Amino acid sequence: MATIALDPRLDKKTSDFIAQKHRMYIDGKFVNAASGKTLSVYNPATGEVMAQVPEAEAVDVDQAVRAARRAFDEGPWTKMSPSQRGRLILKLADLMEQHLEELAEIESMDNGKPVSVARVADVPLAVDLFRYMAGWATKIMGHTFPISFPGEYLSYTLREPIGVVGQIIPWNFPLLMAAWKLGPALAAGCTVVLKLAEQTPLSGLRLAELIHEAGFPEGVVNVLTGFGEGAGAPLAAHDLVDKIAFTGSTEVGRLIVHAAAGNLKKVSLELGGKSPAIIFPDADLERAIPGTASAIFFNHGQCCCAGSRLFAHESIFDRVVEGVSDIASKIRVGNGLDPHTEMGPLVSEEQFEKVTGYINSGLSEGAKATAGGKKAADRGYFVQPTVLTRTTPEMKVVKEEIFGPVVCAVPFTDTDLDRIAREANDTPYGLAASVWTRDISIANKMAKRIRSGTVWINCHNVFDAALPFGGYKQSGWGREMGSEVLNNYTEVKAVTTAL
Ligand code: ADP
Repeated sequence: MATIALDPRLDKKTSDFIAQKHRMYIDGKFVNAASGKTLSVYNPATGEVMAQVPEAEAVDVDQAVRAARRAFDEGPWTKMSPSQRGRLILKLADLMEQHLEELAEIESMDNGKPVSVARVADVPLAVDLFRYMAGWATKIMGHTFPISFPGEYLSYTLREPIGVVGQIIPWNFPLLMAAWKLGPALAAGCTVVLKLAEQTPLSGLRLAELIHEAGFPEGVVNVLTGFGEGAGAPLAAHDLVDKIAFTGSTEVGRLIVHAAAGNLKKVSLELGGKSPAIIFPDADLERAIPGTASAIFFNHGQCCCAGSRLFAHESIFDRVVEGVSDIASKIRVGNGLDPHTEMGPLVSEEQFEKVTGYINSGLSEGAKATAGGKKAADRGYFVQPTVLTRTTPEMKVVKEEIFGPVVCAVPFTDTDLDRIAREANDTPYGLAASVWTRDISIANKMAKRIRSGTVWINCHNVFDAALPFGGYKQSGWGREMGSEVLNNYTEVKAVTTAL
C-alpha cells in the first residue's frame, strides 16, 4: 500500500497501479511472499516510500522454480508449436504497446529517468525486442553433417531449449532488461524465474500482469521481487535450475558463478564496463562533442556501456572538454515526470552516495571538475552531470566503474594506434567503446584493436534487437540479443542414425 500521495502529473491508471497491493507472479497466480514480508520501493526524486512489494526468500524461490520445472517437464508449453510460442510473445508485445504510456510513467517513477525518455526508448525497445525474438521461435534450427565414420549414417543436430532458466536483472533499464532476458528464453521454449531488482520492481510486476493477460501457460514465466542475497542467491544456487542469466555488477557476477557451481548450471553474465570514447583530431567535432556527452550522460550514466573515459587528442582536447562541459552544465536536471527534464535523479540513496563519493575522491586526489561535481538538489538523489580533467591512471575515478553521470577526460598525444588502443584497453572491462574520426582506415583499425564486445564508430549507445551485445574480459560471458543470445538458452544435441 502506498504511504504517500503520488504525483498528480501521473495518469490515474499509473497511480492506481503503483498504489495497489503488489504481489509476485508464481505458477500463474499473483501471491504474497510466504513469510508475508515486504520491501519498500522509493521514489528517487523525493526519497519517499511509494510502494511495498513482496520480499521473496528461498522458500518462494523454490516454489517458483518448481512451477517452472513442472511447466517445462510436463506442461503444454514445450509441446506447443514454435509458431504458437511466437504468437504468444507477439501478443505480449502488443499488450505492452497498448500500455506504453503507463509503462513509461511507472519506469520514470521507479527508476527516476525522464518519462520522455522511457516513452521513446525503454518501452518501445522492449516491445521491439519481444517482436524480434518472437520471429526466432520458428527459426531455431540444427544442421545436417556429412560425417566420415565408416559406414552409412545420417547425422543432424537439434537445438533444444536449455530448460528452466533463472534470470536476475538490475535497475538501470528495468523493463528493457526484463525483455532482453525473457524474449529469447521464451522464443527458445524455456521456462523462466525472473528476479527483478529490489530498487525497481514495479514495471516488471506490471509486465507480469500483461504476461498473464497474454495467456502464457501457468509456470512458464514466474516473476519474483526480493533482495539479491535473499532471493537472487537461492535462485542462482537452485539445483532444479538449468541455467542462470545475470545482468549486474561484476562483483555479484562472481558470486553467481560460485553459486552456480553446485549443479554446474550454465551461466551467462552481462557485467560492468569502463568504456572508452576516443576522439581523433580529424573527427567531426560538431558530432563528436554531443555524441560523447550523450555517451556518458544518457540514462544518468547508469549504463554498463557508458563512455566514462573520454580520450581526446591533445590538439582538440581543450575544445572537446569545453564542449562536453558546456553540454553537461546545460542539462536540465529534475523530476522525471517534468516534460522539460533531461536528467532525473540517480536510482537510490546508495547510488547517490556511491557516485558523489567517487566525485569527491577524484577531486580530493587532484582532479578538476570542469562541469558539475556536486549534488544537484537538497531532496532526492540528484547529481550534477560532471566532467573531470587532470586525472591520473591510478585514480579510482579512472579505474573503477562509477555508474553515474561522471566522465574522466584524458588527452592523448600519440599517433600510434597500438599505443592508443593499449591505453583504451587498460581496464579489466571490455564491454564497449566508441571511436570518432573521419578516417575509415583509423576507425576500422581501432575497431580491431579494441578488446570489447561492441565498438561504435562515430556514434555511441546504438542498440538493436538484432545486434549482439556483451563483454570481453570481466564484462561478462555470452551475448544478449541478436541470434547470438539463442546460444544462451539452447542445448545442441547431435543425433546419428546408422542407415
Ligand atoms: P548494483 O550494484 O548495480 O545494484 P547488483 O549486481 O548488486 O547491481 O544487482 C543486480 C541484481 O543482482 C539485482 O537484482 C540484485 O538483487 C541481484 N543480486 C545482488 N546480490 C546478489 C547475490 N548475491 N546473488 C544473486 N543476485 C544478487
